[in-house]
Amino acid sequence: MKTFIIGHKSPDTDSIMSALVMANLEKNFGSTNEVIPCRLGNLNKETEYILEHFNVEAPMLIDSVSGADEVILVDHNSFLESAPDIANAKISKVVDHHRIANFETTEPLFYMAQPVGCTCTILYELYRMNSVDITPTYAGLMLSAIISDSLLFKSPTCTQKDINVAEALAKIANVDINSYGLDMLKAGTDLSSFSASELINIDSKEFNANGAKFQVSQVNTVDIDSVLNNKSEIEMVMNDLISEKGLDLFMFVITDILTCNSKAIVLGNKASVVENVYNTTIDDNVAFLPGVVSRKKQIVPQITENI
Ligand code: MG
Ligand code: MG
Ligand code: MG
Repeated sequence: MKTFIIGHKSPDTDSIMSALVMANLEKNFGSTNEVIPCRLGNLNKETEYILEHFNVEAPMLIDSVSGADEVILVDHNSFLESAPDIANAKISKVVDHHRIANFETTEPLFYMAQPVGCTCTILYELYRMNSVDITPTYAGLMLSAIISDSLLFKSPTCTQKDINVAEALAKIANVDINSYGLDMLKAGTDLSSFSASELINIDSKEFNANGAKFQVSQVNTVDIDSVLNNKSEIEMVMNDLISEKGLDLFMFVITDILTCNSKAIVLGNKASVVENVYNTTIDDNVAFLPGVVSRKKQIVPQITENI
């Protein structure tokens, strides 16, 4: 029997680390299944940096869960963000920090959700609740996920619990949070090798609301304008996806991790929603979004309500 553990499509650091950390926990629980951490897409540069730093192998790349007898979801629950055949799988557990949407099972399951900044913060608690030891390596992976999801504690999604857990993990991992955290985040801002289409897929999520469909992609940078040098190519790829998927709105959000401001390329027939929500103007398809860094807290709820 096989258990696949998966984070969301276009996996971010939390999705990758949570799959690895949850797999280790399942093994400690004495699962008789073969427990396999998996991923639904390529690693981003930040995640590559972390795995190299702690000398850990990446989860197995899959595009289907048909090979699994059961599946554990981490860092997501929405089937829109999961494996294409997830609706046919037996989901045995979910550990997540997102709103619950587009999710349904036929059987009872273990479900742990908390409104904290990172799935690894919840996993830390699961380790503690079950008295499972956290090795320095796993502490480093979990700490990295918290730094990533909270943008070094600057995101409005970050809670006091995330900070407390990160500090405890930093002690176990013997890591200086600020210097390591900045190095790690900066590794993720090297976007030079990505094509326009790859850029859009580094971190991209799709949503349905009020009969409308919208997609929000996000990249981190230390130089927004250098990403915008590629603007016309990015727009071409966005427009292709808009017609292919029938999207009403597509935002490509470029976030400066040092200033915590974003600019977004905004396209689609509902682009004006962005002007209304943020009380801003879209100039040549670009909107300035001061102080906006979190898709989960500062973009998705507001667009969902107003689209
Ligand atoms: Mg995530
Ligand atoms: Mg997360
Ligand atoms: Mg994220």
